[in-house]
Formats: sequence, C-alpha cells, structure tokens
Amino acid sequence: MAVPRTTSAGRQQASWENWSGTVQGVPERLEIVDGEDEVCEIVRDRGKRAHGIGVAGSGHSYAGLVSPAGRILLDLQRHKGIVSIDRVRMTVIVKAGTSLRALNRELAAEGLALPNQSAIDEQTVAGAVATATHGSGPGMGTLSSHLRSVRLVTANGTVRTVTDDEPEFDAVRVHLGCLGVVTALTFDVVPAHTLRKTIVRMPLKMVLGGLDELRTARYGGFWWYPHTSQAVVWRADPTGEAATPVIPTPRGLPLAFTNNRFPPVAARLVHSLSALSEGRPQSRVLPCDAALLSSLPPRLQALEYGIPVARAAEAITELADTVTRHGLRINAPVDVRFTGADSAWLSPSYQRDTCYLGVTCALPADRPSNTWSRPFAVIDDLLARHEGRPHWAKVHFREPADLAARYPRWHDFLELRRRWDPDGVFLGDLLRATFQ
Ligand SMILES: Cc1cc2nc3c(=O)[nH]c(=O)nc-3n(C[C@H](O)[C@H](O)[C@H](O)COP(=O)(O)OP(=O)(O)OC[C@H]3O[C@@H](n4cnc5c(N)ncnc54)[C@H](O)[C@@H]3O)c2cc1C
Repeated sequence: MAVPRTTSAGRQQASWENWSGTVQGVPERLEIVDGEDEVCEIVRDRGKRAHGIGVAGSGHSYAGLVSPAGRILLDLQRHKGIVSIDRVRMTVIVKAGTSLRALNRELAAEGLALPNQSAIDEQTVAGAVATATHGSGPGMGTLSSHLRSVRLVTANGTVRTVTDDEPEFDAVRVHLGCLGVVTALTFDVVPAHTLRKTIVRMPLKMVLGGLDELRTARYGGFWWYPHTSQAVVWRADPTGEAATPVIPTPRGLPLAFTNNRFPPVAARLVHSLSALSEGRPQSRVLPCDAALLSSLPPRLQALEYGIPVARAAEAITELADTVTRHGLRINAPVDVRFTGADSAWLSPSYQRDTCYLGVTCALPADRPSNTWSRPFAVIDDLLARHEGRPHWAKVHFREPADLAARYPRWHDFLELRRRWDPDGVFLGDLLRATFQ
C-alpha cells in the first residue's frame, strides 16, 4: 500500500509498504493506473523500462515479491470491477485490481460465488492468483486452478490473453508477477449456496488419526494450538438450509490472545483457554463465502509450506514436538488446510494432494522485529525435509537450486520467463535472484 512521505528536501514522495510493514521502499515513481492502455504505454516507455516495472496488488504478501525501491511501481487497485458474466460457461471476467471482497459482493448480488476462498478477502484477484493463494478444499486446487484465462500486458507492451487450452497456461496461472502486468482474469463461478460449518475441539493426536475422514469434507481443516495438545477442527459442507443470522461479536481480544508473544509457559496457559473458547462445539449455516473467511489478524509474520498429504500426520507430530522441545515462540494457532493436486507449474500443490501448514508470529505494532527468524528457520528446515514447497507469498529460507528441485516444471518456467521478458523488466530483486 502506498504511504505518502516527505523527503529530507521537503518533497512529497510516495513510499510503499506491505501489510505487515516488513517490506518497504520508495519507488522511482508510483503509477496509479486505471486501464490497460495506460499500462501498455508505461511498459513501452524506454525511460520507465530502464528502472524496471513492478506491480503491487493490495500488499498482502509477506515475502518481498513487490520490490518497490527505485522502480516504476504500478498500482491497479482502481482498475476494478466485473467485466462480464457468462451464465452458460459459469465464468466471470474481472479486472485485475478488484479485491476478492468486492468480487464476492458483486457475485453474490448475481446469485453467484467463487468456488473457494482464502482466509481473508482483502487481496486483489491478480495478486492472489500470482502467488497460488489457496483456501481449504481437499477436492480442489489453489485459487489459480479456478482460472480459465488471464489477460496481461507482456514485456513488449502488447496485450495477450492466455486461455486454459494453451500449453503455456499452466505457467501463467501462478506467475509471481514476472510474466507481465495482468489486467483481467476469467474465473469459474458456482451458484451461491450455503454451507453448514461445524467446529469442535479435539486432542491433536485424535485429529491426526482422523485426517482421511476430515478430508471427506468439501472444505475443512484445523488449528493446532502450540504448546498444548489441543486442536480446533472445522469443516464446512453444502446444505440446502437457509443461512442462520449471525450476531457479530468483537474478535479483537481473542485475536490478540491467540496471536500473543508470551514465553512458552504463559503461552500454554493462554492457548489452553483460547482452544476451550474457540473450540466450543458450534454448528451454523452460513453463506458460502462467509463460512470460509476469517477475521484479519493483528500484524504478523508468516511462513507456510505445502507438503504431500501422506506426510501430514508425521510432519505435524514432529512440528509439535519441536516447538515444545525447543521452546519456540510460535504462539498463534498453526493453520492446517488441504487442497487437491493442481496443474500450475509453480503451485505448491502441483500434481499432489497437499496439506498446508501455516505458522505465524505476532509482530510488535510499533517497531521492526525479527524475533520470528530463529523459530521460522527451524520450522522451515523441518517442513522442507517433508518434501515441502514454501508458499510464495510467505517467508522461507530456500535457495533457488533447492526450489528448482521441488518443482518438476521449474526449468520450463524459467525458459518461458526468459522468452517473454528477456530484459527482465518485471524482475525485482527477489524474483531476479530466484528466476535468473
Ligand atoms: C492476513 C493474511 C491472510 C492471508 N491468507 C491467505 C490464505 O488463506 N491462503 C493463502 O494462500 N494466502 C494467504 N495470504 C497471502 C496472500 O493471499 C498473498 O500474499 C497474495 O498474493 C496477496 O495478494 P495481493 O493483492 O496483496 O498481492 P501483492 O502481495 O501486492 O502481490 C503479490 C504478487 O502479485 C503480483 N501482482 C499483483 N498484481 C499484479 C498484476 N495486476 N499483474 C501482475 N502481477 C501482479 C505482485 O507483483 C507480487 O509478485 C494471506 C496474507 C495475509 C496478510
């Protein structure tokens, strides 16, 4: 998100930082664009190309994928809204800067919905698919698997629409912003419906013994409360029942407790109480998007890996032992979710049913902190040993050669990227280090 700032010379300049405040920088120029023609002009402009061109979505990636410093930074959040709906094919074309929240709202007004949701809906549609953002549906892939076409301005300044019958589509589905500036996307939609969502607290061991059963849910997952043996399990399945009215309850205090920065002994006590309160048995019927969304947490740093489902129980047991044995300050509930296999070359769910383990560390509101780095390094190593593939939008410690070994189509992606953008116009520092 753009943040106005005054330079030492008293000039007003836009700086940019991500949601967690861990990635910051002052672009050469921030271009707020609303229209594909404007994007084409910028990409063709030699002077601007020389600085490199980056695109920011809503800035919800923890990793430094948006590399603002010294570049021309495009913000497409005004380039928003539904372009058209095809009720025969059941698809929607939406402009790239539309937030998932706005899309959910506009679709609901048409009696439609996206097939799946991530935990929050603040991201732009283009930013979400760029990093293989996922929800939890054991029978479906990441949000990118619901794409039918992607329209983008490529490095030569021309517009190209790539559709799902083209061989290159599986490269474009998850592109990390390095193949061009996406201007519109076509997603599958489904009729709006309700889901019955149930929540129950269980010992972690029992949950791990019943993973096959949990994976029969249309949507489902669980949170393990670190420093305790407790987990809170949720599942959501379609129902013909009408949604029950929900009385909004303030979430600030429970969220602050579950995302605390206490030492392990205090964290155990607080988490035991949180698991009791969050895991009291509930069963409600909710609109399909609301059933899958969570409250926005306080500022935090995040690491997440996708591992093969077959290794999930073993990896989570080892993770729980490691957090306890090393007294790691991992205090927020560990979010465990599932996807089916998908076909995007750079999706962590590529060709395998996947269990995602999301680990977070609360950050102090007012100052930089890297208290997360030691516990994350230990957990990164553990999950990598379980054939893990890191979530692109989150923190990880893998070198490019190591990443390459985890993705069968890695070199095909590299070759395509070089062909489409030989000058590396769209490569910021992190992407250059990874893909060049
Ligand atoms: C509180 C929180 C909850 C989250 N929950 C989930 C979750 O449930 N599941 C999950 O998988 N992830 C989750 N994420 C991660 C989030 O979905 C990703 O970081 C996502 O990529 C953010 O989208 P964005 O619009 O903010 O994009 P940004 O973070 O701004 O950008 C992400 C990438 O997309 C590129 N990009 C953006 N727009 C364009 C465009 N128009 N053209 C080309 N490239 C573009 C950027 O250059 C960058 O490489 C969560 C993050 C937060 C902070």
